[in-house]
Amino acid sequence: MDVLKKIPVREQDPQKRAHNFEEVCYGYNKEEAMQEASRCINCQNAKCITGCPVAINIPGFINEVKNGDFKKAYDIISESSSLPAVCGRVCPQESQCEGKCIRGIKGEPISIGKLERFVADNAMENGFKPKKAAESNGKKVAVIGSGPAGLTCAGDLARLGYDVTIFEALHEPGGVLVYGIPEFRLPKTRVVAKEIENVKSLGVKIETNVVVGKAVKIDELLEDEGFSAVFIGSGAGLPKFMGIPGEQSNGVFSANEYLTRSNLMKAFDEESTTPIMRGKKVAVVGGGNVAMDAARTALRLGAEVHIVYRRSEEELPARVEEVHHAKEEGIIFDLLTNPVEILSDENGWVRAIRCIKMELGEPDESGRRRPVEVKGSEFDIEVDTVIMSLGTSPNPLISSTTVGLEVNGRKCIVASEDNGATSKEGVYAGGDAVTGAATVILAMGAGKNAAKGIHEYLSK
Ligand SMILES: Cc1cc2nc3c(=O)[nH]c(=O)nc-3n(C[C@H](O)[C@H](O)[C@H](O)COP(=O)(O)OP(=O)(O)OC[C@H]3O[C@@H](n4cnc5c(N)ncnc54)[C@H](O)[C@@H]3O)c2cc1C
Ligand code: SF4
Repeated sequence: MDVLKKIPVREQDPQKRAHNFEEVCYGYNKEEAMQEASRCINCQNAKCITGCPVAINIPGFINEVKNGDFKKAYDIISESSSLPAVCGRVCPQESQCEGKCIRGIKGEPISIGKLERFVADNAMENGFKPKKAAESNGKKVAVIGSGPAGLTCAGDLARLGYDVTIFEALHEPGGVLVYGIPEFRLPKTRVVAKEIENVKSLGVKIETNVVVGKAVKIDELLEDEGFSAVFIGSGAGLPKFMGIPGEQSNGVFSANEYLTRSNLMKAFDEESTTPIMRGKKVAVVGGGNVAMDAARTALRLGAEVHIVYRRSEEELPARVEEVHHAKEEGIIFDLLTNPVEILSDENGWVRAIRCIKMELGEPDESGRRRPVEVKGSEFDIEVDTVIMSLGTSPNPLISSTTVGLEVNGRKCIVASEDNGATSKEGVYAGGDAVTGAATVILAMGAGKNAAKGIHEYLSK
């Protein structure tokens, strides 16, 4: 074994997986996990922990994997994280824990994410559960939204003895974990539902189909329903569009709608009662992780898929691993290309997307080179479906129905990074609703900080 190299992880063959929704990555088995764990040098000053927004005791759990005590490894992780099987699959470890790993200075960092996934999957197979709460303290806290921010805040508060109820607008809990990230990266029944069950096993109640701001307002929860504090983890689910001509044509979707139909409403299943339009040729506009997910979903539904992105490969905001997987599966990348119009046929259905070639100019405020149009370079790509993946912002429903809740110019709730406190007493917030679209682990970190903030507030 070369200690400078990661133990490789097995994956489904790209040709095969381009036609199914089964998980791409198989993860480590026991022997592979123990071998990978033995590469960790158990640093005194373990930098990996500082790269983890929920501060998992990484060397501690890796040491237990090395010793073959997977239950102990799980107990260590679950002190800090309620969703390890999720995080082990979707966290951008390369820029977090693994980005700081000391082993990475002279070789490849430890595969911390794959080890976390192994420990969490092993715990599910063996029925290990997170440790239960302290005695109930009788105080009620409401959590709005059941994404990673809400689940984490709820789990941590339940452990401290609070009586926690999550109110979720959709018919299934999980937020983006169930409606956004596709099955082939994050299995819903086998992984997400099980981790949500673990949070429920701590005593957390989840009420689905409750849109806060419509069915009940935050002020009513505090004044009439007996809740002593509220955490808002309502995410950033409102899609952005380009504002170009033809965007109203039939066959234009937001990535959010497209992925929700496929993931949550199981449109990929031929038997589904809510089918999706199966395009033959699809253009996905954007270059982030969401664009890669939409493109790889459309591919699996049988289409030829083009990613249309206005900058070059170097500026693609998606994780390198996602771009690599997309390419392996046969997604076509039309880079330095920007849509200017969507063309439709006489019945209003998309028939092509008119684009213009771009070149890179001087860096802009984000430090990336600004894309500039090449005059007269317009051309058409014939497609029957266009998926816009240009980012999302928080839905203003909650802020517009809650007296005294401050939002910023991007419609994000203003909240303290340290404890989630908002401008309204007893109301805390975190995750995408505060930061705008970000990551699972940052949302979990914010949920954790808010749980501490709420505990301090209610312990006064
Ligand atoms: C397609 C896609 C792929 C992604 N891939 C990754 C990835 O690989 N890695 C990564 O780290 N991050 C990824 N992200 C980002 C990540 O999923 C989010 O940053 C994270 O889920 C945010 O968590 P949250 O709890 O703040 O919000 P969400 O997960 O959005 O959950 C918010 C919940 O609140 C509910 N809600 C909203 N309004 C109300 C209301 N008024 N009343 C009641 N409930 C309400 C929503 O229905 C939702 O369930 C991806 C995002 C998308 C869309
Ligand atoms: S920094 Fe890397 S090698 Fe050091 S303890 Fe963390 S995972 Fe192990």
